[in-house]
Amino acid sequence: MPNSAGKRFKPTKYIPVSTAATLLVGSTTLFFVFTCPWLTKVISPAVPLYNGLVFLFDEDKDDDFRAPLYKNVEIKGIQVRMKWCATCHFYRPPRCSHCSVCDNCVEDFDHHCPWVNNCIGRRNYRYFFLFLLSLSVHMLGVFSSGLIFVLHHRESLAALHTTVTYPSSC
Ligand SMILES: [Zn+2]
Ligand SMILES: [Zn+2]
Repeated sequence: MPNSAGKRFKPTKYIPVSTAATLLVGSTTLFFVFTCPWLTKVISPAVPLYNGLVFLFDEDKDDDFRAPLYKNVEIKGIQVRMKWCATCHFYRPPRCSHCSVCDNCVEDFDHHCPWVNNCIGRRNYRYFFLFLLSLSVHMLGVFSSGLIFVLHHRESLAALHTTVTYPSSC
């Protein structure tokens, strides 16, 4: 199925994934350096421990013959029309789609996610869902901790630790 011979290196497709990684790692680092020491001291050492665990959890020719474009097969009494993929050289099963970025056919294709630079399909759907879930929990955790930090430092809003907390919380 994979056709590595036709693959070309496209640097532009790595822009979204590296931007997302830089933003996530950057804001989390700022949070740990500037906001966490105070939270550890005042609230609980479990705050950075919890955020650290959640953060770590975030982490994924040529055609020799001319085949007919469509092939009808019967699956459990239902007629299914399968389309020939000229790149992967096989008939696509139902719900299978060819991703032009990955240059592969993907079973139970959902979409190609440029932020993780991969297709979301049959084999990684649940991991992608868990990734989104843990990312949301991580964002909520950093945001609420940052809010607590800022509210306790209202008298020194211009101080370095407080100003760094704003962007890293957002
Ligand atoms: Zn294909
Ligand atoms: Zn893809």
